[in-house]
Amino acid sequence: MKNSYLIIFIVTIFSITSVTSQETDDPFLDLTNFSDGPYVFISNNKLIEKKILNGVVTSKVLEPTQYDTIFTPQKSMFKNVENIAALSDIHGQYDLAVEILKNNGIIDPNLDWNFGKGHLVIVGDVFDRGPKINEMLWLLFKLEIQAKKNGGRLHFLLGNHEYMVLHKDLRYVHDRYKVSSKLLGLAYDELYSNQTIIGRWLRSKSTIIKINNSIFVHGGVSEEFITENGIDISNTNQIMRSSIERSKQEMKSTDFYKTYYGKKSLIWYRGYFYDNLVDADISKILTQVNSEHIVVGHCSNEEIVQLYDHKIFGVDSSIKKGTYGELLFIKNKQFYRGTLDGKQIKF
Ligand code: ZN
Repeated sequence: MKNSYLIIFIVTIFSITSVTSQETDDPFLDLTNFSDGPYVFISNNKLIEKKILNGVVTSKVLEPTQYDTIFTPQKSMFKNVENIAALSDIHGQYDLAVEILKNNGIIDPNLDWNFGKGHLVIVGDVFDRGPKINEMLWLLFKLEIQAKKNGGRLHFLLGNHEYMVLHKDLRYVHDRYKVSSKLLGLAYDELYSNQTIIGRWLRSKSTIIKINNSIFVHGGVSEEFITENGIDISNTNQIMRSSIERSKQEMKSTDFYKTYYGKKSLIWYRGYFYDNLVDADISKILTQVNSEHIVVGHCSNEEIVQLYDHKIFGVDSSIKKGTYGELLFIKNKQFYRGTLDGKQIKF
């Protein structure tokens, strides 16, 4: 799959740069199987939907009521939630993520919300590496609306790869999107600019939330981060949100970049897995954030894991490889692995 996108990519560059070539019967110039989208742009109060269908870009003006264009940030703390599920590091593996969500009853066979009043937390890194980012984003966008209507919630927490793309760091973008980008005549990050529906929606999202007695965050909360930033999570989310529009260069001119985008930051921290912390270190962090558990993604394992006597849960179950993955369930203070085939295994 990846190779075929690469061929299309190379050929697209070739066909765009070599306008003199008229060899249209060249099979390598065939983009007839290449489709992507929709991307919905907001331009002068109009909604313009662009799609690529069999290699051809189509554009149409949508009804202005079809999508909200203003997304108000959610609150950062939730209490008395009976059912929680967490899934992380999807990295464009839409088909596998859908399978996990279906088999565990979060969505139904029509890919509609089936988790009632439950809260589903996506613990960052939907972007990069894999080939079906946009499909995943639109699914989550829809599920968030459906969840709310059912008294549940979908929380899309931003991970380091969301922040990378929004800051134009495109090193991990899949070849498929290099083709789309060329065909649409926009840099990849511009497909999610503040003048797009999904781009605006992403810019309203949180980086860290607390549900019941658990914190959810992509990398983790480090001792150093607490020292530099404090523990006000609503304020932290606001700082992270407004940093999206700041340039890296400007953020790097002070300690800001190190605190919020460095190795000990919420989105990049790997210390629970690699820093040889002891139980007392974790307990101290938990006391400071007034929680009993921290659920993180970002560090890949073959399955969902617990560390430090169930204080830390790692929910990056290597979905990025495209073959297997799990989600975490929390019900009545009990933690379960939800496997790919829908079995629940108690921790
Ligand atoms: Zn990550």
